[in-house]
Amino acid sequence: MQIILVPRARKVPKTLDLADRRLRWRLLGVAAAAILACAGLGAGVAMAVASPRDRALAEIGRLQQRVKQQDGQLGDMREDARRQLDALAVKLGQLQAQSTRLDALGEHLAEVGKLDSREFDFDQPPPMGGVEDSAGGSYPLPKSLDEGIERLASRFDSQQAQLAALQSLLQDARIDADLKPTGMPVRGGYISSYFGLRPDPFNGRIARHTGLDIAVPAGTPVRAVAEGMVTFAGVRGGYGKVVEIDHGNGYMTRYAHNSKLLVHPGERVRVGQAISRVGSTGRSTGPHVHFEVWYKGRVLNPLAFVRKHR
Ligand SMILES: [Zn+2]
Repeated sequence: MQIILVPRARKVPKTLDLADRRLRWRLLGVAAAAILACAGLGAGVAMAVASPRDRALAEIGRLQQRVKQQDGQLGDMREDARRQLDALAVKLGQLQAQSTRLDALGEHLAEVGKLDSREFDFDQPPPMGGVEDSAGGSYPLPKSLDEGIERLASRFDSQQAQLAALQSLLQDARIDADLKPTGMPVRGGYISSYFGLRPDPFNGRIARHTGLDIAVPAGTPVRAVAEGMVTFAGVRGGYGKVVEIDHGNGYMTRYAHNSKLLVHPGERVRVGQAISRVGSTGRSTGPHVHFEVWYKGRVLNPLAFVRKHR
């Protein structure tokens, strides 16, 4: 077999004799090279076209995996948050119960302290002003829970303010009680003469007795019936050795006919403190304490005070 190649330019045909062994090998080599080149090119083109898609697909697969993971985590978080919210709701309930108990306690205290109940309405927020302080950036809570916490917080604020006011009022009341003449200036004995008009024990003429006489053995301690300051301790006419105490709230008490004085002017005395010893100095017929109570310059019947107890 012979293949005759005729190039256009040269017009001279070239003869390839396929019977020639060397030529056949050469053509085979050329053909093999051409096939290999085509295959390589095809693979290259296929690679160039398919590779981004595969990469994208692989990427999508990874992303799907991550989304799945994160969805799982979100589920866990949601479950955690739900559990925490449940716990928070329980805590809120407990705090509300405590707040209710505080209300009851406050009302009880106001009653005990005989305070104006309108002033201490523990159900109402106390009147006050101020600029709103918004806590920005807080995690959004379910509306009902958030409102519950807000209400409770303002209720606690109100209770705190009211309890503080109540405390200071009760303390003032306690101090007032200590300053008010209460009880007997001596232990034991008996009332030998009351306050008011009576025949004078020395001349028999009707005279006003400005105090209460309590007969007790000489030497018995005489005690301050209220807290105060000694304004006089010495001899004063018919009173003999006498102690006078100013209680700072309009009240003054006087203890007369003592045998001995245990305090001096300017000294602060506590309730029940021994200030003197019973005697019979001044216009007196025997050992007794003559006890007077004065309020804003007027002498009062001490009986109203000695009958009370602390
Ligand atoms: Zn008297």
